[in-house]
Amino acid sequence: MRPDTIAVHAGRRPDPSTGAIAEPIHLSTTFLREPDGSFASGYIYSREKSPNRTNLEAALALMDGGADAAAFSSGLAATNAVLQTLRSGDHVICPKEVYYGTKKLLTQVFDRWGLTHTIVDTSNLDAVRAAVTPQTRLLWAETPSNPTLTVTDIAAMAEIARQANARLVVDNTWGTPMGQRVLDLGADIAMYSTTKYHGGHSDVLSGALVTRQADEWWAQIRLIQSTGGAVPSPFDAWLVHRGMASMVCRFRQQCASAQRVAEFLTTHDAVEAVHYPSLSSHPGHAIAARQMTLFGGMVAVQVRGGSAEALQLTGRVKLFTRATSLGGVESLIEHRKSVEGPESPTPDNLLRLSVGLEDADDLIDDLREGLSR
Ligand SMILES: *Cc1c(COP(=O)(O)O)cnc(C)c1O
Repeated sequence: MRPDTIAVHAGRRPDPSTGAIAEPIHLSTTFLREPDGSFASGYIYSREKSPNRTNLEAALALMDGGADAAAFSSGLAATNAVLQTLRSGDHVICPKEVYYGTKKLLTQVFDRWGLTHTIVDTSNLDAVRAAVTPQTRLLWAETPSNPTLTVTDIAAMAEIARQANARLVVDNTWGTPMGQRVLDLGADIAMYSTTKYHGGHSDVLSGALVTRQADEWWAQIRLIQSTGGAVPSPFDAWLVHRGMASMVCRFRQQCASAQRVAEFLTTHDAVEAVHYPSLSSHPGHAIAARQMTLFGGMVAVQVRGGSAEALQLTGRVKLFTRATSLGGVESLIEHRKSVEGPESPTPDNLLRLSVGLEDADDLIDDLREGLSR
């Protein structure tokens, strides 16, 4: 099946007991045991396995063409589970431009457990190769990355990981399963904050891992999921699964509008730089064109001037809402530097746009008016 069809049908069927077309929400934490002690339904206790989570995980695995998927209570809970499979003394390669929470887990949580890491620019493959040590067990990639949409060559990273006898995990939150097939490109696991495009309505915090192979490493991740307990509630699982039905369609529209917004911004006098991987001016364009089929709904723009000029635009726009996060139906605008703090390398004049489902012409008009001085 193709992605649009998978999105609508995966993990979904009319409820056998009532005929309900919309998936029922099973709140039960515990399930019936047969007189002989067996569990006919396969369900025992909801931390280990629960019906709404099972349906969601089936959809997640199909969407990425993976062997299996595990749903978590947040994107970072999914990342946390991956890191918890490692041992003290193991080494992780982490991108310089990476979601700040991923870096925080490595530098403020797992450093105490003896996990070592090297932070490198993963768009520079020689730097990645040079960072590999005999202890390297995990390569992490995030592409396109936050906030300047740096592109990393997934297939090349997978080859470096293979030669190092390490694993490659790709945070594909911005790429999405529609934009790039990271497992087909050789990644071992696709990691998602499903809070973003999968849920798609800014109303559920959740995460997921999708694996290429259901191997021993995956069994360890499943153990951490069910025993660590960072699982989504039945309602959260239901919301993400419901969001996924329209995800392919939403994302296609968001990419088309982001493309138009990015093209408009490149023509404006008040704009210094636009970061969007489909633009030929983007340093990662050639790799993006090879590994992505859609370029995403995120655009970064550097306004001429400094943080005052950037903040002025965020104050003037009417359709873009000032808020963090991404992937929802509503367009958002964010001054990244003030979120990340003074130590952040993000330029003062950079704004991050999450393009939503509004008419692209309205969004462009909004930015044009906001930029007029
Ligand atoms: C939001 C986000 C995360 C973290 O996910 P949560 O659901 O907020 O825990 C990780 N990576 C990327 C790229 C994100 O955008």
